Amino acid sequence: MNILWFQRDLRLADHAPLQAAIEAGQPLLLIYCYEPIMLNEGHFNPRHGRFIMESLQDLSNVLKSSGIVLHVFRNDFLAVLQKIHRRYGVGCIFSYREKGLKALEKRNEAIEAFCHENEIDWQASEPLEELPTSANWKKFWQKEMKKKVITPDLSRIKPISVSIGFIEELSIIDTPDQYYIPDFHFQRGGPEQAQDWLNSFLKIRAVQYLEADNNPYLSRYNASRLSPYIAWGNLSVRQIFQACQQAIGEGFYPNALKDFLAHLYKHDHILFTTHQGFACDLLPSEHVGNEDREKLFECWKKGRLGFPLVDASMRCLLETGYLIPRLRLLLLSVLKQRFPEFEAKGLCWLAQHSLDFEPRLFYYYVSQPIASRKYLNPVRESQKMESSIHFLRIWLPELVNLPPRFLHEPWRLRRSEQNRYAVWLGSSYPVPPKEWIPRTIRKKKQLT
Ligand SMILES: Cc1cc2nc3c(=O)[nH]c(=O)nc-3n(C[C@H](O)[C@H](O)[C@H](O)COP(=O)(O)OP(=O)(O)OC[C@H]3O[C@@H](n4cnc5c(N)ncnc54)[C@H](O)[C@@H]3O)c2cc1C
Repeated sequence: MNILWFQRDLRLADHAPLQAAIEAGQPLLLIYCYEPIMLNEGHFNPRHGRFIMESLQDLSNVLKSSGIVLHVFRNDFLAVLQKIHRRYGVGCIFSYREKGLKALEKRNEAIEAFCHENEIDWQASEPLEELPTSANWKKFWQKEMKKKVITPDLSRIKPISVSIGFIEELSIIDTPDQYYIPDFHFQRGGPEQAQDWLNSFLKIRAVQYLEADNNPYLSRYNASRLSPYIAWGNLSVRQIFQACQQAIGEGFYPNALKDFLAHLYKHDHILFTTHQGFACDLLPSEHVGNEDREKLFECWKKGRLGFPLVDASMRCLLETGYLIPRLRLLLLSVLKQRFPEFEAKGLCWLAQHSLDFEPRLFYYYVSQPIASRKYLNPVRESQKMESSIHFLRIWLPELVNLPPRFLHEPWRLRRSEQNRYAVWLGSSYPVPPKEWIPRTIRKKKQLT
């Protein structure tokens, strides 16, 4: 029999391995594995587990109507494969090849070795065909995007099922209850949800897409918010590209949607050229910071460092899993600049809390030099960013009474002002270390 192994490709349409598995015509077992090696390697968080579970439920519902079972194991794929191979004999595995973390590379090597020893053919395909080395990547990408999206004929699958007893026997970890409890702070996973977000964006929300760029308040509604659906494969970039072209053809927001297509291009360009798959995560440093530094690092993690825009960004990320790129860069630059000894830990923290965590994109940005000083000055960022006042008031309720001139720099409050605005520095809101407070040139206009 053959195996179809789902990873970060939790959809049925535009799924090359699924199509290849159907073409092969052999009995097919459909598998997803919550893999302990990946859950425990540092970048994973229950919010990802829940998103995956929701996606699997969505897929199962569609497959069930064709009499096909999606088997969810709670063990490493290699352990599952070994057992299934011993009991049933596996001919071929169809999957995409997931990349971008050291643990993934190691896992893939171990699977490859096992397949080689046991004459199993692992067809691990790439989402885009063989990439050209030439400079004309854009042309190649557009050609790839215009290829037909294949909706698989599920009735051609010859499904195999294994018993629940077999699945349980093989599962070595429990599924946390919280995976099953919906959390409305986060986008819900699954191809059906993804399609709803895509349609509402193309037909309605894109109206203010251009204004939403760099605007943390507007972007919650008017950015596409498709990144988790792309990261976990609920939709392929090709599906989105084609839906977008169609919407442009129908006359929906051409300027905004062209800009959106440029973002999609950037996504694939980073994934498939700049960081073509090698693992780029950092190893945790052996260095142990002193207790005070450790405490400050914990404050950064919890959104209680004392810089309002940094704290609001962190709290927003922790609570919703989403941030605009500019604020992700802000958090990253504070981590790199102020907490170099905790960089690997801090990166894992950011990755765990980004619902759309995609290792190649994330570590691409991590590897970029923080070129511009503007990111190193959270006060100037806060003063310059549109809607930052709304954003700060939403995420820092303890500062809600402050007028804008203090909201960006609460440490300027005198004692009498602290009483007036009910903000007590050091107790209701922290003060950052003095030497970290940037000296800002304040224009009269900004003070009002
Ligand atoms: C430090 C840092 C870390 C990041 N980590 C991730 C990550 O782990 N996963 C992730 O999906 N994105 C990451 N990004 C890129 C970007 O922040 C998100 O893709 C974007 O905020 C998602 O919002 P959206 O779907 O509304 O984007 P839209 O603006 O609507 O764009 C549409 C799609 O294009 C892609 N895209 C948008 N902006 C970028 C960008 N700057 N770079 C590359 N692709 C982009 C995304 O797939 C996005 O869904 C990171 C950016 C920075 C600066």
